Amino acid sequence: MAVTIGYTLKDDAGKVIDTSEGEGRQPLTYLHGVGALVPGLEKALAGKQAGDTLTVDLSSAEAYGDRDETLIRNIPLRKLGEKKPTVGGRYRVQTDKGVVAALVIALDGDYAKVDLNHPLAGMNLHFQVNVVSVRAATDEEIAHGHVHAPGGHHHG
Ligand code: ZN
Repeated sequence: MAVTIGYTLKDDAGKVIDTSEGEGRQPLTYLHGVGALVPGLEKALAGKQAGDTLTVDLSSAEAYGDRDETLIRNIPLRKLGEKKPTVGGRYRVQTDKGVVAALVIALDGDYAKVDLNHPLAGMNLHFQVNVVSVRAATDEEIAHGHVHAPGGHHHG
């Protein structure tokens, strides 16, 4: 199934972290069943129909997992691919788990202390979701593991 949802994501304090509502934003279309969403949210959306609304409260374990302090590391500046990184900046870094966004927390000579945790790791997440549409995914979408824009293939 290819599912289109509108959503607002808040933290425990009720602060909006992300939303599909508002200027320049659009609903999210995802392929159900391939792990495109965090596990708890995908599970809550199973079997939903267009027009359904739901509130989904997830513990960090059901969302982006707990913070892992071993993911705070000192790495050579050159691995950041940026000659003058700044503290508080996020840079793409190749790791044994693929490319991740590294948050620079300190700089020391030729090294940067970085946090490789997902920005939402360790956080409970609260979603308000409205299901906009549900359609059967095409064979091509299932083969690719992602949805395609209406009327054509979106990538080369
Ligand atoms: Zn594709």
